[in-house]
Amino acid sequence: MERPNAWKNYTPEDIEKLNDLSARYRAFLDGGKTERECVKETIALAEAKGYRDLAAIVKAGEKLKAGDKVYSNCMGKAIMLFHIGKKPLETGMNIIGAHIDSPRMDVKQNPLYEDTDIAYLDTHYYGGIKKYQWVTIPLALHGVVAKKDGTVIDVVIGEDENDPVMCVSDLLIHLSREQMTKPAATVIEGEMLNLIVGGRPIEEEEGGEEGDGEKKPDKDAVKANVLKLLKEKYDFEEEDFLSAEIEVVPAGKARDLGLDRSMILGYGHDDRVCAFPSVDAILSLEETPETTCCCILADKEEIGSVGATGMRAHYFENAVAELLAASGSYCELKLRRALTASRMLSCDVSAGFDPNFAAAFEKKNVAYLGRGVCYNKFTGSGGKSGSNDANAEFIARLRGIMDDNNVAYQFAELGKVDQGGGGTIAYICALYGMEVIDSGVAVLSMHAPMEVINKADLYEAKKAYLAFMKNA
Ligand code: MN
Ligand code: MN
Repeated sequence: MERPNAWKNYTPEDIEKLNDLSARYRAFLDGGKTERECVKETIALAEAKGYRDLAAIVKAGEKLKAGDKVYSNCMGKAIMLFHIGKKPLETGMNIIGAHIDSPRMDVKQNPLYEDTDIAYLDTHYYGGIKKYQWVTIPLALHGVVAKKDGTVIDVVIGEDENDPVMCVSDLLIHLSREQMTKPAATVIEGEMLNLIVGGRPIEEEEGGEEGDGEKKPDKDAVKANVLKLLKEKYDFEEEDFLSAEIEVVPAGKARDLGLDRSMILGYGHDDRVCAFPSVDAILSLEETPETTCCCILADKEEIGSVGATGMRAHYFENAVAELLAASGSYCELKLRRALTASRMLSCDVSAGFDPNFAAAFEKKNVAYLGRGVCYNKFTGSGGKSGSNDANAEFIARLRGIMDDNNVAYQFAELGKVDQGGGGTIAYICALYGMEVIDSGVAVLSMHAPMEVINKADLYEAKKAYLAFMKNA
């Protein structure tokens, strides 16, 4: 049952395609460090391939037919692409779904303060992180500021090489005798994730100091200087933090990893390493598919798929209802049938075997870097708690599709039984009664600021997702 390393079977043509996909994936990572940015990038890629906005089609009262390509944008944070097939929608869809939110730190609503001549932004982490990994690395700010007048300003600071970056400090080793005895969970605690954003007091304005001639000590002059800069660059008042969504993410680009350039080191592989090949696969469908194909990119997976843009919200179901209506055949029963009769790959990352931490894995049932796309029959923790558990019959069909299409794949669990666990969006889509299985790419250092994937697994994921959409 041991799977060969996928690189061994590649032809020069494979290597060329793999390199092309990897380069485009790295560009996607660099341009998409937040869910909002990933949605924008996806819309640009989709429109270039002839996709149109479903909302505009509905508004114009246009009809949809086989071969049409549409996208549905959910609040700029989640998106669905549909390529309408020849068969009626109620015979089901072939769906691939990934998530585009990644672990990070979010700037709080009342964030800016000064302490002993240093200005900070207070943050609240998002998703599961080892907090000690997020100190002393260059960090960038990505997000939006929504102003009361209705304008929404995009913020990106720390990515251009001439930009400044931010960071969180750590205690110097010389004074860390006590800190070094703490468990890793408490070495850096949540409230210590304070981002350094300034260290220079504001210059006094001409004629600013009036009155008795005695100079008052400047209160919060460093903070005042930060606010002045924000005002100049973004017309941003301190109160505007209340309606801002600013995410703190590692600054800089994804890089090829290893002397052989076989891997990629970057922020947010979980889950953009599945989101990107999903998008690339559906956009590479040249002909009208038999079955309607759908690619879902969801938000909020890392915090339980909650909220209006998380997979538990109803945007997917609503979009399918709109498709039926625009195809001139909406009824509630057809909608139910379309959802229930569908098949889905829930595309999310899996834990890659790490020889440095071999004790956490069970070697027969773990994903190995470079051995192809990874299927998880189930995820969850403990006794499979919280998992979707894919049906054997569905898995058998998938094996056939993967073998027929020469896809390198492996079956895995997250790690040893009772070591921990995790979930995906699979169980939520399974609520409709559709067949769902988890399928993704193995990652090292998952949820760290910089994660590792192997390019062969990215390449096999794209092949798998395309084969699934054409043949499931
Ligand atoms: Mn994930
Ligand atoms: Mn995750």
